[in-house]
Amino acid sequence: MEHNIKGKVITITGASSGIGEATAIMLAAKGAKVVLGARRKDRLEGLVTRIKAAGGEAAYVVTDIKKRSDLVQLVNFACETYGCLDVIVNNAGIARLSRVDDLQVTDWEEMIDVNIKGTLYGIAAALPVFKQQGSGHIINIISTSGIKIVPVQGIYAGTKNAVRTITEALRQESGGKYRVTGISPGFVNTELTDHIKDEATRSAIKEKAVQIAITPEAIAGAVAYAISQPDNVDVGDIVIRPAVQD
Ligand code: NDP
Repeated sequence: MEHNIKGKVITITGASSGIGEATAIMLAAKGAKVVLGARRKDRLEGLVTRIKAAGGEAAYVVTDIKKRSDLVQLVNFACETYGCLDVIVNNAGIARLSRVDDLQVTDWEEMIDVNIKGTLYGIAAALPVFKQQGSGHIINIISTSGIKIVPVQGIYAGTKNAVRTITEALRQESGGKYRVTGISPGFVNTELTDHIKDEATRSAIKEKAVQIAITPEAIAGAVAYAISQPDNVDVGDIVIRPAVQD
């Protein structure tokens, strides 16, 4: 199946760490041309250097997904550099976890801007290209947050469930002209939880990560699986958790 990855032009947001970084490395190793977006230029530069040193093809554009124009620029860069866009992986996201009654309204707004609006901007940038080409693949990284509702993840899960709903509607609307996949990871060992403000919440989650979290490569493998299917096969939803996660 890997022939359906080789040569594809694949844009990945949030490629500077965690799941995005692991996905970029895996897809490039399978022969994709990866175009990477995130805010941390040094990380992207280092990653592109590593992929090229391993014989892969990669480029990057510093991208803030809170800005619609940055997503347009990222997609245009991929098309201009490699001639088309086959896949966009809307992976960038943040998790500012806290109790709803703590009223961390600025964090709520930040999650809405990045997780919902940022993903929508990625979709809006890629869809015109996919419609023109008559092909393409949108892969949204969602979460098991929202499949199981738990305290301190309320707003984060809400943003992820918005993306889940939008992804399914888009899949039904696609009419076979492009593919739409939602991938919901469970607990993955990344930098995602480093930015939780409340120390007790952060250290409890970090401790749990040591006990149960899986590696980002497990999610990269799911992305590769969805892309590698024959063109008439659309993997709608993948949920992928640590074997011991509730
Ligand atoms: P990381 O924190 O390691 O990666 C998040 C990525 O998103 C970074 O590359 C970061 O890059 C990027 N990012 C954040 N804000 C922006 C922005 N405004 N513009 C562009 N890029 C941005 O965490 P993960 O790899 O874990 O997260 C990837 C996705 O997986 C997220 O959507 C997350 O919600 C989801 N997920 C993660 C789980 C986990 O347990 N880790 C579980 C379920 C889902 P930079 O800071 O350089 O901009």
